[in-house]
Amino acid sequence: MYLRLSRRGQCQPTPRAEGPRQSHALRRRWVAGRLAAACALFVAVGGLEPVAAQAPLPIDADRTQVILLGTGSPFLDAAKVGASVAIVTGGVAYLVDIGPGAYLRTVEAAQRGVDALAWPTRLFLTHLHSDHVLDYADLLWALWWRREGQVTAYGPPGLAALTTGLHGAFAEDIRMRTEGSQPIVTRGYVPEVHEIDGTLRFEDERVRVIGFPVCHDSQAAYGYRFETADRVVVVSGDTTFCDSVVEHARGADILVHEIFSERGLARRTEDWQAYHRAAHSSPAQVARVANAVRPGTLVLYHQLYFGVSDAELVEEIREAGYDGPLVSGKDFDVF
Ligand SMILES: [Zn+2]
Ligand SMILES: [Zn+2]
Repeated sequence: MYLRLSRRGQCQPTPRAEGPRQSHALRRRWVAGRLAAACALFVAVGGLEPVAAQAPLPIDADRTQVILLGTGSPFLDAAKVGASVAIVTGGVAYLVDIGPGAYLRTVEAAQRGVDALAWPTRLFLTHLHSDHVLDYADLLWALWWRREGQVTAYGPPGLAALTTGLHGAFAEDIRMRTEGSQPIVTRGYVPEVHEIDGTLRFEDERVRVIGFPVCHDSQAAYGYRFETADRVVVVSGDTTFCDSVVEHARGADILVHEIFSERGLARRTEDWQAYHRAAHSSPAQVARVANAVRPGTLVLYHQLYFGVSDAELVEEIREAGYDGPLVSGKDFDVF
């Protein structure tokens, strides 16, 4: 019997063709036990980088897939990190937003079998609120000195200034790594930045993307429509009811839409209620959009619960008159 290291860093016994001789069985078990202990120690002290043995995500590589990386809001929640949705098609991932915590979600997704999310490089930002962009720094800075592939980022005006600001903030990291003895192969922190002026129309061999203005208080904010060979996916971004969402979400197989709880909002002060009504969508508004569009599945994300549960939020949508397919999204949900 031998022991081998699996790709996930686990010690596994590899039985050879062994005879049934009982006299050697105890000794074999003793040797196997010692080898397993030595192997575990080897892994523990860093002889091999162990990879968390998590269940693979249920991905169908032959279809366009939507992976919710982060379904959270500015209210930090370890189970629902900052807003981020991955559209994976043809083995390539397109990210919509990268809020706080979302970068590590891409790492975990890659460890759980989504190869397209290992070092993603295509980013579309809905707007520059921090709950949607904080991990932009991680996306640019993670292992920048040896990472392959340049990040391409699309977003509203201000994205170039944000990028320049990050370069200033991390100037010392850049200086230390480039002026020391560290062998630098790439400068991954330098993205290709495109600020959207009006409506974005982007196309490559896998996808057509339309970035359309939405209604998010007074902010420059966009929703995105992705058309692939087999699916149409629309992400609302942050918006209150907006005709442009209805217009661009027609024919969507998956409509990922933000929402706040009407019952929950009633507990907030009047000034906050006014802000949220100007910036975000009530269940009645989401139901109105969904009834106009009739998506294959309506997926709620960026839920502002204000104390209600997922079940209550779904109930609010049903009471508002939408009876189509509906999921209140959680991180790592796959559609
Ligand atoms: Zn937000
Ligand atoms: Zn926002």
